[in-house]
Amino acid sequence: MSDKFTVRFWGVRGSIPCPGPSTARFGGNTPCIEVRCGNRLIIFDGGTGIRELGNELMKSGAPLDADILLSHCHIDHVNGIPFFAPFYSRANEFRIWAGHLLPNFNLEDALRSLMSHPLFPIEVEIFQANIHYRDFQAGKTLDFGDGIAIRTVALDHPGGATGYRLEFGGRSFAYITDNEIRPAGPDPRLVALARGADLAVYDCTYTDGEIGSKSGWGHSSWRQGLALADAAGIKTFCLFHHAPEHDDATMDKIAFEAAAARKGTIVAVEGSILEL
Ligand SMILES: [Zn+2]
Ligand SMILES: [Zn+2]
Repeated sequence: MSDKFTVRFWGVRGSIPCPGPSTARFGGNTPCIEVRCGNRLIIFDGGTGIRELGNELMKSGAPLDADILLSHCHIDHVNGIPFFAPFYSRANEFRIWAGHLLPNFNLEDALRSLMSHPLFPIEVEIFQANIHYRDFQAGKTLDFGDGIAIRTVALDHPGGATGYRLEFGGRSFAYITDNEIRPAGPDPRLVALARGADLAVYDCTYTDGEIGSKSGWGHSSWRQGLALADAAGIKTFCLFHHAPEHDDATMDKIAFEAAAARKGTIVAVEGSILEL
């Protein structure tokens, strides 16, 4: 089996899509990342970026079998799901995972409420693919087989969210959004999850100047993110979940400052592909 391990960004923006000329270079779609581990396809989040991923996946015409790991169900992380073309083909099989809903909620009901009258014209029954809804409690390890191990941790976010660490072929990828880092510093469980990751994609919604007034909103500044990167010894740290107000010129400035502050730091750009 192939041991390729790639990460492709289909949506990098937080909160709300922000298309337009001022955000065209970094991208305006909300979170969606395609990860390929050998023959397996693992998708992180179903923001508006998943629509274009779905269109790309449908081009081959081959049946799809994939997992979708949701950080949580806030609208920016699921609003592409009704527009994910592979869900409308009987040939396809998906497992959708969420670790923040039990015991009071479950994933199928959450997506059912996303797609319900009078806010949406169609309901989840319209999906033709074989979809399995997999609720778990953040903190569990998920065994995906094929040499893929996934560790999870509960994040600090209103309503909860789940951070993931995927290990495959001796390499590791961490996907951690949306999360607040309190003044005491990064949660030790989070540091343990991200320890030595080859690539960590992390919620860096704000600058330090902006975050002061946003205590309790469940997000981080990029400098707080770098504190996590240092504490955990992350190899490549990647800023993600960019604020919709940050246009390309602002993102250029943030990218420059973050790379100067910690060597090798990068900013997620819609359409870019990284090899692990
Ligand atoms: Zn978000
Ligand atoms: Zn959120």
